[in-house]
Amino acid sequence: MRALTISAHGGLEQLEYRTDLPVPDVPPGHVRVRLRAAALNHLDLFTLRGLPGLTIKPPWIMGADGTGVIDAIGPASDSRIEDDKLATESPQHVHEGEELTVGTRVIINAGISDRSCEYCLAGEQSLCVRFQLLGEHLPGTMAEFVVVPVENVRRVPAEIPVEQAAAFTLAALTAWRMIITRAEVGPDDDVLIWGIGGGVAQAALQIAKMREARVWVTSGTDAKLERARELGADETLNHRTTDVAKEIRRRTSKRGVSVVIDSVGQATWTQSLGALGRAGRLVTCGGTSGAIVETDVRRLFWNQWSIMGSTMGNDAEFDNVVREFRQGRLLPVVDSVFKLEDGRRAFERMESGEQFGKIVVSMGT
Ligand SMILES: [Zn+2]
Repeated sequence: MRALTISAHGGLEQLEYRTDLPVPDVPPGHVRVRLRAAALNHLDLFTLRGLPGLTIKPPWIMGADGTGVIDAIGPASDSRIEDDKLATESPQHVHEGEELTVGTRVIINAGISDRSCEYCLAGEQSLCVRFQLLGEHLPGTMAEFVVVPVENVRRVPAEIPVEQAAAFTLAALTAWRMIITRAEVGPDDDVLIWGIGGGVAQAALQIAKMREARVWVTSGTDAKLERARELGADETLNHRTTDVAKEIRRRTSKRGVSVVIDSVGQATWTQSLGALGRAGRLVTCGGTSGAIVETDVRRLFWNQWSIMGSTMGNDAEFDNVVREFRQGRLLPVVDSVFKLEDGRRAFERMESGEQFGKIVVSMGT
């Protein structure tokens, strides 16, 4: 099968389009998806460059987000089929009253949990002690086929375009957990979201507006701030030309915001805390600019801040974002679409930081 792979960590030159990879088998409890499109996340750049403790087996298939059609369903794990053959004739799997069969259009949740540790049993799959991500720990979605546990797919309505479906899950799920579960954003909140060109930031904006919060967004580009207003942003700040914390203090009679959504890390942390009011909550899901940050502990306790981490989401949160997605209330902005064989150009686009929304790779099927 065709796939976008790497054989060693490094720069974009490591990305290699291949056509000689074997189609993966389908173990019990899994489905094989014939992918139609995949989408990029910053995670893919980190995997490309290499992360501490991360070992890839070349040729490694990139990609965490994806959408496609179920192509085969593995035998049910609790009723062993004698010859272990794939259920391709009258296949069916029912997940929470939802029938998944060969041919069903699905989106994929890239977070794979073991479903047996204490966190999984408590319904907190993204805290799983053996948590794995497609494209980072397991073969990814930038390929003709991917195999995932049946719990990791959900049906997509026919009317949702394939590019938006491909780009949906990881950003929306991450943002949902940050805004709803961790920060518990409500109508009285002022929420600051950094870097509104990114997928998680845009999903966070949409979800915070659902909760009727007042949302502040930043970008280094005025054109992106203009587009963010169309998505519902109330206040916009150009972080290249404005001291964000100072300007927020000025516009809020020194009170600051009650919630900050930060995925940038090092470059924004001091400004995030500078903008955060008393009893404020800062939620971080990443450090795209650098991982090590400085916090003045006196300001932390005096202002009674909560600093929270967040990663992906659990099954209940996945079902919540899928519900919003199906009703058309939470759809990603697609920046650009590249063919799988031009996958390196998609990565170039992401590295440039010029995108507004998600970068999609199409399998051409
Ligand atoms: Zn677990």
